[in-house]
Amino acid sequence: MEKTHHIAILPSPGMGHLIPMAEFAKRLVKHHPISVTIIIPTTGTPPKAQISVLESLPEYIHHMFLPSVNTEGLSQGARPELLISFIMQSSLSSLRDALISLKSRTNLVALVFDMFGHDSMEVAKEVCLFNFLFFPMNSMALSFTFILPKLDEETSCEYKDLPEPVKVPGSISFSGRDLMAPVQIRTDEVYKGYLLLSKRLTLLDGILVNSFEELEEETFRFLHTGAAGQTPIYPIGPLIQSAPSNGLNPHDCIKWLDNQPDGSVVLVSFGSGGTLSLDQIHELALGLETSGHRFLWILRSPDEKASNASFFTASSQTDPLGFLPEGFLARTVTQGLIVPSWAPQIEILNHKATGGFLTHCGWNSTLESIVHGVPMIAWPLYAEQHMNAKMMTEALCLALRAETDENGMVRKEVIEKVVKELMEGYEGKKISQRMNELKVAATKVLINGGSSMESLSKFAQQLKK
Ligand code: UDP
Repeated sequence: MEKTHHIAILPSPGMGHLIPMAEFAKRLVKHHPISVTIIIPTTGTPPKAQISVLESLPEYIHHMFLPSVNTEGLSQGARPELLISFIMQSSLSSLRDALISLKSRTNLVALVFDMFGHDSMEVAKEVCLFNFLFFPMNSMALSFTFILPKLDEETSCEYKDLPEPVKVPGSISFSGRDLMAPVQIRTDEVYKGYLLLSKRLTLLDGILVNSFEELEEETFRFLHTGAAGQTPIYPIGPLIQSAPSNGLNPHDCIKWLDNQPDGSVVLVSFGSGGTLSLDQIHELALGLETSGHRFLWILRSPDEKASNASFFTASSQTDPLGFLPEGFLARTVTQGLIVPSWAPQIEILNHKATGGFLTHCGWNSTLESIVHGVPMIAWPLYAEQHMNAKMMTEALCLALRAETDENGMVRKEVIEKVVKELMEGYEGKKISQRMNELKVAATKVLINGGSSMESLSKFAQQLKK
């Protein structure tokens, strides 16, 4: 811990926030005289996927686990957002102890937390630390969060019943139904928590955003010019894990990709926790099959109630392959590969055989696709994915949409058509061209003098004040 300044990073449970926050830590210690401790709230033995991220971190990035929080008091099947908020709240006192102890040993100057960690602002102030929000979504979602207090004041109904779309400054308009999940039920605790965060934004010492100026120019312009008050906004993305370059012990799916023609495979993945119903799995399987295109599908067991049923475990309790349509595996043996639960997504996107990505539009997955120049099919499930999907399809033209029917189901005919259009159609070619331009832009922002590197330097400067 011998670098000049030290910061603590507090990711909320789940991989979706840990991964970009760990990448942020890596980039920071690589380019600045700063060391980091990642403080992890827990509810028992940490999941394997989490451990492997933490153990791969370089020198100057330490990690510690907070004492396990007992979640027995929560009802069985509590929604992930409520569970996460509960864990973060219940960890505040042990966080205080951890920060005090860290401060006695290092030149600890700041705490960086994500959207579920904003109650730790008070704790950080007690310990005299800077408060930074790490915003793992894009600047469009941040811009919406800035206008939420006003929207809340001016609206009496649920947002899904609003007659007019909501215009997000610097970005596009969204129907109330498409707004992010935390704001969908205004009487809900999750809404109250998110509204509180939105009111606290201008009290922060800064906001780090996992996006880049060149991707969302207008939105960042809006945020930089007054919307955020005195709070500096730092676009420091894209922060994604880099694909391992040594090629040792490749996953079986990489070996399979090695034998496929360039740009021929569609990756199908719904993030770290996305799940589909059994009927939807069947539709998807049949649609992929009749598209005739090669596919690599990271498959989880179905869940009828929630679309994020594997949020904490990132894996299925039962063998997902047993849920596929009769005879599907045999019929598609040369066309596709099914990987149960989890596969190295970035390595797959980085592989030359991958030519398309059917994604739930989680922000990490979206950035990973942009960085690797892979055109997308947007199939949003939960969180802010519907907003991301609309931004990707309508504002940025980087994805085609897998349209749902009146029951919220994406039918096999739609899947067949959209896969064909992406892989062989005119729209697919246009998206591919645009993707290649953005891939170049995403690389440039991370070299010396690039916009995200400059932003990171400004953040590091602020820590010295
Ligand atoms: N991921 C992976 N393998 C999988 C599924 C997901 O490596 O089988 C990674 C993916 O590359 C991304 C993260 O998990 O970095 C998922 O984050 P995202 O924001 O896309 O979605 P979330 O999981 O938060 O819904």
